[in-house]
Formats: sequence, C-alpha cells, structure tokens
Amino acid sequence: MKTSIKKLRKFFRLEAERDYDNKAVMGGLANILSSWELEAREDELPEQIIQAVISRLRDYHRLSEESREVALKGIWKRVNKESLQDKKRDKVNLPTDKPAPVPQQISEPPAQKKEPSQPKQKKQQVEKTVTPPAEKLDFDTPVNSIKGIGEKKTAALTRMGISSIRDLLYTFPRRHDDYSKLKPIGSLWFGEEVTVIGTIDSVSTRSVRGGKMKLVEAMVSDKSGALRVTWFNQPWLEGQLSRAKHVVLSGEIEQYLGRLTMNNPEWEPLSNEQLHTNRIVPVYPLTKDITQKWLRGVLHDTVQKYGPSIEDPLPDQLRSSISLPVLSTAIQEIHFPDSDQSLQKAKQRLAFDELFLLQMGVLKQKKQWENRPGQVFDSPDVWINSRLEQLPFQLTKAQIKTLTQVREDLCSGHPMNRLLQGDVGSGKTVIAALAALIVVRQGAQAAFMAPTSILAEQHFQSLKKLLGNNPDEIKENEITLLIGSTPEDQKEQIRKKLSQGEIKLVIGTHALLQEPVEFQNLQLAIVDEQHRFGVEQRGTLRQKGNNPHLLVMTATPIPRSLALTTFGDLELSVIDELPPGRLPVETHVLFPREIERAYSLVRRQVDKGNQAFIIYPLVEESEKIDEKAAVEEFSRLQKEIFPSYSLGLLHGQMRPDDKESVMTLFRDKEIQILVSTSVVEVGVDIPGATVMLVEGAHRFGLAQLHQFRGRVGRSDQKSYCILIPGNAEEIENQRLQAMVETNDGFVLAEKDLEIRGPGQFLGTRQSGYTELKLASITDLKLVEQARQHASELFRQDPELSQENHQKLALAVNQFWTLKNSGDIS
Ligand code: ADP
Ligand code: MG
Repeated sequence: MKTSIKKLRKFFRLEAERDYDNKAVMGGLANILSSWELEAREDELPEQIIQAVISRLRDYHRLSEESREVALKGIWKRVNKESLQDKKRDKVNLPTDKPAPVPQQISEPPAQKKEPSQPKQKKQQVEKTVTPPAEKLDFDTPVNSIKGIGEKKTAALTRMGISSIRDLLYTFPRRHDDYSKLKPIGSLWFGEEVTVIGTIDSVSTRSVRGGKMKLVEAMVSDKSGALRVTWFNQPWLEGQLSRAKHVVLSGEIEQYLGRLTMNNPEWEPLSNEQLHTNRIVPVYPLTKDITQKWLRGVLHDTVQKYGPSIEDPLPDQLRSSISLPVLSTAIQEIHFPDSDQSLQKAKQRLAFDELFLLQMGVLKQKKQWENRPGQVFDSPDVWINSRLEQLPFQLTKAQIKTLTQVREDLCSGHPMNRLLQGDVGSGKTVIAALAALIVVRQGAQAAFMAPTSILAEQHFQSLKKLLGNNPDEIKENEITLLIGSTPEDQKEQIRKKLSQGEIKLVIGTHALLQEPVEFQNLQLAIVDEQHRFGVEQRGTLRQKGNNPHLLVMTATPIPRSLALTTFGDLELSVIDELPPGRLPVETHVLFPREIERAYSLVRRQVDKGNQAFIIYPLVEESEKIDEKAAVEEFSRLQKEIFPSYSLGLLHGQMRPDDKESVMTLFRDKEIQILVSTSVVEVGVDIPGATVMLVEGAHRFGLAQLHQFRGRVGRSDQKSYCILIPGNAEEIENQRLQAMVETNDGFVLAEKDLEIRGPGQFLGTRQSGYTELKLASITDLKLVEQARQHASELFRQDPELSQENHQKLALAVNQFWTLKNSGDIS
C-alpha cells in the first residue's frame, strides 16, 4: 500500500476511535493536508482522489460528527476503489486522469481547422495512445517553465491571475479583430478594417507636439499603391521596421490631409504564419510589462502545444446533445479562431461549461444540505390557527401559502433552507415571527438577524408584540435584543443566558455573529434583508447551531436566472400579494428647481395627519462631512421650509440610543417629518408615512430607490414618492424613469440587473461569480439549459462516482476551488 494511503488510513482510524471529534490530529484533520498532498503526488495518486481528499478534509471541521463519519467513509471507499482501478490502468497503459499523455478526442475531429499539418498530427497522436509520449503535458505546470518567461513576466502574469498553463489557456481574449480580409493598397477605403501586405519604402522618426511625442512614419507600398503608416511614441519601431522589409499590417484605414493612412496598426514581418495579422486576431487584457504582441505569441505557442491534449470533462452523450464543440476545439478556437462562426461556437461551449459546473456545485450543496438531519418541529393546525387569531390582521393567501411551506420544512426532519421573497411591505416579518414561535415553544432557540440596528430594534418591538401573548410558549424576558451598541455588561449577560438557554429568541445585527456568542440549542436562524449580508455571514450564523433551520428573507426580487444560480441551493417561497387595501405609490421625478412643489406636498400630507421622509442626498454615511451637511440641511429645513412642523434628524453617526429615540418619536407621530440619510433604506415600517422625498436621487441604485419607496404606502392612505436628481440633466436618468414606470419590484429588479450586471446587482460580496468569464448569469436560456443538464446528470450519478464522470468530477472541483466561496447559501 502506498505511504500516503497508509497515512490516511491511520488518521481515519484514529478519528473513528475518537468518534469523529476532529482531534486525531492536533489542530484538526485539515492540518495533515499540506504534507499529505505532497506525499500523495509523490505516490502518484490520481489527481481527482487528491482533490477529493483535500476538499473534504478542508471543510471537515465544519461538519457534524455524523457527517464527518459519512465523509471519511466516503473518501476511504473512493481511495480504495480508485487505487484498485489505478493498478488495472497501469497494466493496460491507458491514460490516467492527468490530461497528460494523449487524451485526444476521437469523437470529433475539429473540422474547422484548416492547417494541413493538424489532422496528420492528430492521427498520429490517436494511434499512439497506447504508448504515452515521452513528454507529459501537465496543465498545472507553472508559467515560468515556458521558454522566454522570466521573473518579470511571471510577476506580471501573476498579477493577472495567471500562474499555470491552465490559467493561461483560460485567459480569454477581450475581443477579436477580424483582419482576415487582405486587400491591395490601391483599393482601400476610408474607415475599413483591413490587412495589407507591402514593402517598406522608407522609415523615419520625427518629434511632434513640441518634442513631447515621437512619431515613426513609414511608407509602405505594393504593386497597386502606397500608404503612409504612423506609430506614436514607439521610437524603437524605426529599427525593427527598417530591418523587416516586407510587412503585414492590420488596422483601420484613416484619413490625414486628404490621404489614406493607418495609425498604430498591428504589424509583423511577413512570415509563413501570420499570427498577429491577416487573421481573426485575439486581443487580450493586459497589464504593465505585458504587451499584446508578446502575450499573443505566448498563447499561440501554448495553445498549439497544449490545446490538442485538453480533455473534455463533459460526458460524450451530454456534449452531443447540446451540439457544441469539444473542449479542446473550443479552447483553440476562442484564442485563434478560423472563422467567426467557430469563434461563436467556442464561446458558447465555454460559457455553457461555466454555468454547467456552477450548477453541478449548486446542486451538490443543495443535496448535501437536504441530507443532513434536522430537528422536527411540528405545529398542529389547531394551535397555529389559535395563534393566527391573535394577530391584528388576517394573513393574505400568499402569506398562508408561505407559512405552510415553512411549517412543512420545520417538521421534515431535514434543515429548512428557504428563501422568502416578497416585495417591500408584503408582510414577511410575521412569517418569520411565527416560524420562531414554532421553534421556541418546543424549547429550542431562534436567532433573527437584521442588517441595521434601527431595523433590529424595530423587529424586537414588533416581535415582542406579536409573540408576547402566550407566556407558556415564550415570556417577554426570553426575547432579547443584541446589537453593537448594547452595553458590554448587558452583552455579557445576554451571552450567558443564550449559552444556558434562558433566552429563547434573540434579535440583533452582525453582533450576533461575534465569537463569544454561543447558543445552547439554536434551531432556527432567520436572516432579514439577506442581500445586505455576505454569504459568509449567513454561514456563520448557521454554524452557531447544529444544522439549524434557515430562513432568509429578501425584498429584492430574484430574477429567475439568479434564482437558479446564486440562490440555486435554496427553496424559494414568494409572497406575491400585498395586504388588502394598499394603494400603489404615486411616483414623480421633479427638476431640482421644482423642489418647492415637493415641499408643499409634504405640508399638505402632514396637515392631514400623515408623515413624511426626506432623504438627504448624501450616500457616504461614514464621512464626517456628511454629518455636518446633514445637520445643516436639517436646521435649514426646520427654520426656513417647515418652521411650524416638528422635524427629526437621523443619520449614521448618531449615538444608537439617540437613533432609537428619534425612531420611536417618529413612530409615535411626535415627529412629523423625518430628515434622514439612507439609514432608513431597508425594512423600516412606519405605517403613517405617506411621502418619501428623495433628494439627490440619481445617486441611488434602482434597488435602493425601490426600498426607499417601500417605506411608504404601508397603510390604506394614498402615498407619494418624489425623486429629485441633483442636477437637471439627470432627469432622463434611466433608473428614475424606471421608477415612474412601474411599482413592480420584479420588473425593476430585471431592469436593474440589465443596467448594472449581476455583480453590482447583488453587491460584489454576494455575487461570488468571478469564475464566470464568458457566461452571463442573466442569460436565462443558457442558465436553464445548464440547470437542466446538470439536474439530469445529478439524478443519474449524484456523487459523480461513475467511471465516465471522473473528469467531470475533477472539473467541478477545480471550478469550485477557484470560486473559493464554498458555501453559497
Ligand atoms: P416586509 O415584507 O417589507 O418586511 P413587513 O413585514 O414589515 O413587510 O410588513 C409591512 C406592514 O404590513 C407591517 O406594518 C405589518 O404589520 C403589516 N402587515 C403584514 N401582513 C399583513 C396583513 N396580512 N394584513 C395587513 N397588514 C399586514
Ligand atoms: Mg421587512
């Protein structure tokens, strides 16, 4: 038995003896990885086994004892099986999982390749499969092993995130320029992109702009005519050009003083294969010390050498059903395409891969979560109905449906993993409150996390009211608030009570996540306004319990493409109905000079007994200047605009208890007009408010604006949202116009996604999709296709343990390691 395998066996046995407490090795089992990996490589264990061991052990500490046992047994089974197969393989001399020897795809000869040398070469390779060539092609080879890549270039490439051959192959061109249209100089037209071949008649350099700039000028001619060509600030070209004699130039034809010229064209000396010109030319992203020409050259060599050996992780059957080229062809074609058509096919194939691998990971996580055991919390109909009767309102149909789903999850025996989506004001809080009640009445604990202390405080008040009627289920002193500003001695008390189980329901902010906070028995984690939290934060809260139920809530509608990707591992409930009697909020965009109209609307509404928000146009709450400006603006409004009304001020720098008292005064209608920064953006519930006036509105995102608007229209009173951009030109701002056009959060979300792209839309912390280079998460058709194929494959072979899925298993692993955000829920 190989040493590395023996070692695994030793540690796994120890761990089993200790009932999987992760103490067989000091500091946890993951600590063996770095040395084990080296040994395993020395032992030449198959790469996918190494990867599997690494990925399981790395997260081992996060698993429950039961899951650890399953994990170790699973790895062991695979190691065993694989090392047997490995032996067999050695005998028949088949290529191993390393893309090394000659895994040329026989299934589809790349038909588009025109170079005559190619097919011959391939044939030879196919025939040679039985005897691997002397040189092994390893895609993990560091780039500095390539000839001509020294320290400086390695450093520059590293900055671009390129360290291995694989990275290099997956550095896709930003665009391609089609220079494949060769033309005689005599028939050029202004404005066209062409390639010409000519002789250099003369080269000279001169200074222009008072010596600030050097201009290299060449006259190039062919039989049909001559062309002036210039390059700016590349004085070294003079020497190169005069040595070259015959050159190929590609670029756009421009005009200078009535004559045709080319400025800064791509060029190279005439040779047999025109790499930089006379073809569809890739244009790569660059960094300091890396030039286009150089990178193109390196990629050309690399693609030629490695491209044909790239193995396709997709099972043949799947690949042929989507009728896309094999991976090897796709990689070669995306760099140096033979035609626009083959380029498009290559892009499609690679985009499909990204989404497909993404889906495989998402489904795997979903499955893993579903397989864990969860505590059963039942909620008999009779009991729940009596609680519903105590509510101050009747639940809407959509709320009831959602509540039913939550109740089913809670008694399923597996942890709930549910995303509750409902537009602003649709009444999500009450569902969360009832879920908490179901859990705490059976003695367990629940935590409710909100993104701001204002919101946490509000939830604390309303949950106490909603749940406080039944002291046999939860007493008032068993509900508590924990936010950053809670005094340290109280925090200490709360922590103690949480760890002893005396507090049943805690409502709070990020403060809940902090290290010393421990629960005796956390069984339900609720995250409100989940888009305000990072993926990790959700995970951290969940880890405070043992496979607790999870309910995340959002008002940001999730377009379907995202529901299948970013949130693909969550079950989705939608509250698609507002409580009865709500009127749509009337929205207007006004010119800055019309602000007086907005003020008089505020006065009229307040005179009727309603309330108003005025959002102060500063977004950066953290800055001191803002505080000063907000305070000044507030006193101006109080003195000059609304002297006879009662105004309140709220901003991020205020002391927490001051914030709280302002909010309380506002809720109690002691304050009629609240001047605020964007701290009131999410969640705040003031049913009496009917005007939302947003100044500097062009600075806010669509999702934010919709959230602001959601602060009003929470009663049966007609409400208004007035948006005033900072300057008149912004009146045409697409986001502001979109707000006027619709009240439908879903439509706005789709629009937002379109305008801003998914990273921004989700907040960069959340998107986690840096590995998507070609695919767009908004490409619903491709996303659905990938999802469908992934689900199908997943149904057949969830563990990807079948022989013909090994390459895929490896690719999935690689993709998810790169993404380095293992836990996306
Ligand atoms: P959101 O979904 O934006 O979090 P909230 O849970 O804050 O919405 O609810 C908005 C307001 O609607 C609150 O004042 C809440 O008490 C009220 N509400 C919730 N459900 C109903 C209902 N079924 N009928 C009437 N009012 C409701
Ligand atoms: Mg809410």
